Amino acid sequence: MIKFKCKDFLLKECELEAKGTHSVDEMMKLVEVHAGGEHRTLRLSPETIE
Ligand SMILES: [Zn+2]
Repeated sequence: MIKFKCKDFLLKECELEAKGTHSVDEMMKLVEVHAGGEHRTLRLSPETIE
């Protein structure tokens, strides 16, 4: 299972935790939606996820 903690990758003040997704693609979508809404100034790179 893939887990994503926003504070580990994007913003340490952010408490978002996404889990339960079964593919990186699915995770990327969640992260993009979250980052697009909450962290518009941050840019995601594929390396961020790995
Ligand atoms: Zn966040």
